[in-house]
Amino acid sequence: MRLTIWGIVTLMIILTSCQNKQSETESEQAPFNVTADRFADIRVLRYQVPGFESLPLQKKKLLYYLSRAALSGRDIIYDQNYRWNLAVRRTLEAMIRNHMGSAENEDYQKFIEYVKRVWFSNGIHHHYSTIKFTPEISKAYFTKLLDAVPENQLPLREGQDREAFTQWILPIIFDPDLDRKRVNLDHGVDHVKESANNYYQGVTQKEVEDFYARKIDKNDPQPISYGLNSRLVKENGVIREKVWKVGGLYGAALEKAVFWLQKARDVAENDKQKKWLDLLIRYYQTGDLKIFDEFSIAWVNDTDSDIDLIHGFIEVYGDALGYRGAYESIVELKDPVASKRIEAISAQAQWFENNSPIMDEHKKSKVKGITANVINAVMEAGDAAPSTPIGVNLPNANWIRATHGSKSINLGNIVNAYDEASKSSGMLEEFAWDEDQIKLEREWGTLGDNLHTDMHEVIGHASGKINPGVGTPKETLKNYSSTLEEARADLVALYFLMDERLVDMGILPNLNPGKAQYNDYIRNGLMLQLRRLKKGENLEEAHMRNRQLVAKWVYEKGKKDNVIEKRVRDGKTFFVINDYMKLRDLFGQLLREIQRIKSEGDYEAGKNLVETYGVKVDPALHDEVVARYAKLDIPPYAGFIQPKLTAVEKNGEIVDVTITYPEDFMEQMLEYAEKYSFLPTYND
Ligand code: ZN
Repeated sequence: MRLTIWGIVTLMIILTSCQNKQSETESEQAPFNVTADRFADIRVLRYQVPGFESLPLQKKKLLYYLSRAALSGRDIIYDQNYRWNLAVRRTLEAMIRNHMGSAENEDYQKFIEYVKRVWFSNGIHHHYSTIKFTPEISKAYFTKLLDAVPENQLPLREGQDREAFTQWILPIIFDPDLDRKRVNLDHGVDHVKESANNYYQGVTQKEVEDFYARKIDKNDPQPISYGLNSRLVKENGVIREKVWKVGGLYGAALEKAVFWLQKARDVAENDKQKKWLDLLIRYYQTGDLKIFDEFSIAWVNDTDSDIDLIHGFIEVYGDALGYRGAYESIVELKDPVASKRIEAISAQAQWFENNSPIMDEHKKSKVKGITANVINAVMEAGDAAPSTPIGVNLPNANWIRATHGSKSINLGNIVNAYDEASKSSGMLEEFAWDEDQIKLEREWGTLGDNLHTDMHEVIGHASGKINPGVGTPKETLKNYSSTLEEARADLVALYFLMDERLVDMGILPNLNPGKAQYNDYIRNGLMLQLRRLKKGENLEEAHMRNRQLVAKWVYEKGKKDNVIEKRVRDGKTFFVINDYMKLRDLFGQLLREIQRIKSEGDYEAGKNLVETYGVKVDPALHDEVVARYAKLDIPPYAGFIQPKLTAVEKNGEIVDVTITYPEDFMEQMLEYAEKYSFLPTYND
């Protein structure tokens, strides 16, 4: 499972995720430019890997090998997304290589914008909407560029000449109705036939469903992930899986990945890590999904290693029927600063429980903090790049999750980059009341955000107990249970964010991060998040509901003391906190009530809270927020340029690995095309 920003770059204001505060020395260095490029509806950002330079050589080598393994599979996602994506991409890249005219030419600029979109989406369908996009240039201009490419550089099919190739590829690129949507979930259509992805060939949805109905034993307590690593095809009337493995489909790329994984395995940190690397290699060599399960179990059991890896056919969102996994890879390095902070909070979990404002009978006598892992991404590839998740929870197999648990990570440095980008987006200037608020946010906002996330995860969800005999929240609170649960976890975090105890524990230097977070939370809960809604819509999503519920409740209840004041300046609305400690007390009161609702399973009270405060939207305020936000002109989607790891060799031995942060998106894409084009153009 993955947590994404679903295209909302600007979510960082409300983003509840973690990353580490850059150390003093780092912030004194030349500023790192987070924003690198902008085109269409996209911003391209950059992220850093703090602490890489000071790693021991063995870990640097390990990260280097894993990064190469990650990039080796890059072609796979293109072919999975659409059967002609590699042909299109290689054609476009050849056109760039052979372009002789001015790069300033307006048509050429439009052409480059199209190519960048293809790279960004790993194909010709929009990465988020999955609808095909087309270039804003004429076919004549396109053909002119294509004509400049020598025939031996075109990805011709056997027996095809230039003319036939041109006629074949033009509609693929220009006709929006040809293979219109990558994943088509529209009601009443054949989801397999009408989806343009390359997961099925010659089969109908019914045939696929029948195929797996026959295969899957519903009583098997440990079912493999059927269909995860293959294409399902019908050839000569026979339906069968073409497995993605060394020696099978996508073998050329997987062979390279295995080569690097083997090198990684030889410099593994410990035996646990070595074990899952070995199993991963064996899985690619055999295509055996039972071995993939063994790998997943070994992987989830390794919580000791500082370096971790996601690699393979993982998430199934790209398949309308949810069987087939898209290739992705994330190379991860544990974030030492954030990990220490989380451990400190976790170690004090019982203190927080004992001092919580909830009723004594709802407190746990033995509370165990949940371990949350903050990692820094070192390399992302396949479906995880350039557009990236900000959190991941794996493995996906339910029986493994139930018996062996799962690993949950937040991508700290990615969130940090989003955060940095937001500081220069103009959002803060538009929606913060005054210079003091802006200053507070710039200085302490990130730490406040991180701490909120940490406490939400580590002590928030872990806190409180349900009265004996009361069913699970899903049973008692039904459709309101997730909203109330998220509100409860947020409130634990908010309540303790202004507690001197955090200063005593050495986690905070003062309570400013708490104040910054309070401003942020109220601003977002009452206003900012409304920009994501269309006119006339109510709040539906659990996190959005919970944030408005909390913010609106404390606003209403604090009215008589003017705790939060609504102010209007030049026709613009602002919410300003007048008394942080009184606000803290209100958070505590609401927490006590929501915990009571959960502990007692009080459906009516829960429903009442959510429906009164968390659902309805003030239409005038909504209009205002949307208009103010639109003026800022922030592209809705973002993705990242990857760092570049380079091995420094001496007499054939790696003596160091350096990390640099490229600034040019196009340059990186062309470099990857040159170094990691391992698959044939046509993978039938
Ligand atoms: Zn939560």
